[in-house]
Amino acid sequence: MKFGGTSVATVERIRNVARHVRREVEAGYDVAVVVSAMAGRTNELVGWCKEAAPLYAPSEYDVVVASGEQVTSGLLAIALQNEGLPARSWQGWQVPFRTSDGHGSARIAEVDGAGILAGFEAKREVAVVSGFQGIHAETGRITTLGRGGSDTSAVALAAALKAERCDIYTDVDGVYTTDPRIVPRARRLDRVAFEEMLEMASLGAKVLQVRSVELAMLHQVPTYVRSSFDDPADPKPGTLICDEDDIMEQSVVTGIAFSRDEAQITLRRVADKPGVAAAIFGPLADANVNVDMIIQVVSDDAATTDITFTVPAADYERSRAILEQHRETIGLREVQGATDVVKVSAIGVGMRSHAGVASRAFRALADKGINIRAITTSEIKFSVLIDAAYTELAVRTLHSLYGLDRA
Ligand code: ASP
Ligand code: MG
Repeated sequence: MKFGGTSVATVERIRNVARHVRREVEAGYDVAVVVSAMAGRTNELVGWCKEAAPLYAPSEYDVVVASGEQVTSGLLAIALQNEGLPARSWQGWQVPFRTSDGHGSARIAEVDGAGILAGFEAKREVAVVSGFQGIHAETGRITTLGRGGSDTSAVALAAALKAERCDIYTDVDGVYTTDPRIVPRARRLDRVAFEEMLEMASLGAKVLQVRSVELAMLHQVPTYVRSSFDDPADPKPGTLICDEDDIMEQSVVTGIAFSRDEAQITLRRVADKPGVAAAIFGPLADANVNVDMIIQVVSDDAATTDITFTVPAADYERSRAILEQHRETIGLREVQGATDVVKVSAIGVGMRSHAGVASRAFRALADKGINIRAITTSEIKFSVLIDAAYTELAVRTLHSLYGLDRA
């Protein structure tokens, strides 16, 4: 069971979490609980680091930001003991979660579940584990897994313990067909395939850290997203993220995602010769800019071409500066850009076996007068780049088109 920041935001909420845990223990499960820091706490800790010095050692940043989870794990252990359950807290280094030394966004190398399993064996002791933290074995230093990393802690621990399920308790009751704030008729999904969830998380659905979904898929950990705000005695259904073979009624499109975090760059009249794409995208890759959609057109004069691509909005200025630096090697003449764009995507494993899924969307968007600036497709999703002003209209149009609206 994993509880996010809003679920442990106050001592009162932590006592409520203890009641959710007790229900599962009484149902016969051995339980390991992973907790986040209280909502807002990690931001506060990050702020203190910046205040202490504009340039701080990442290893010390990890020492500071890991402390939020230490507090909640201890408090939950106390609350569980108060419920009459044997329980103890485990810090990341005690389990241990062995990680890389990439301080601030370390990757888990190995989780040793032996101590926790021994506690189950000896006295059905609930393990309350601080999420987000690990240790780099060689240096013995505390690491953290990147923002939102306690989801990943939970899935990794579930895999190590060979858990039946990983339940992620949060402040929403599951995964929706799209953002209910944009489409009030969005529906909670009962089941989503790992691959679909991976696309949705990558495309900006904030329920789970992307890396946690990758891990769940890799280790086939059924992951259940549900609300901690339910009555612990009467929990409501959430969304199970599972293997696509375990989904009976598969619709062609499962969800519509959108990301405002996009910017478009167009290079006009670059030389149409071998090596140009490498000259453009090599330096961007070296600078860690994640290029997404790429379109190259055949131009009228055969000697030059136009190339359009998208980058994360946060990398827009930096990308333009990098292109300027390589103006000569690219043979660049004119650069155009737009930041008032949004990427709208439709996702569904059913697309593998159905033709014409995307073309229906192009027609529907055209009927609403929405111009498409760029398109990409993959096996289980397609995305269109459009003017940001049309975001809501486009999302609603596609949501209805694929029959996702709640009746
Ligand atoms: N407390 C950490 C954060 O706010 C980790 C997490 O909540 O998943 O990013
Ligand atoms: Mg989170």
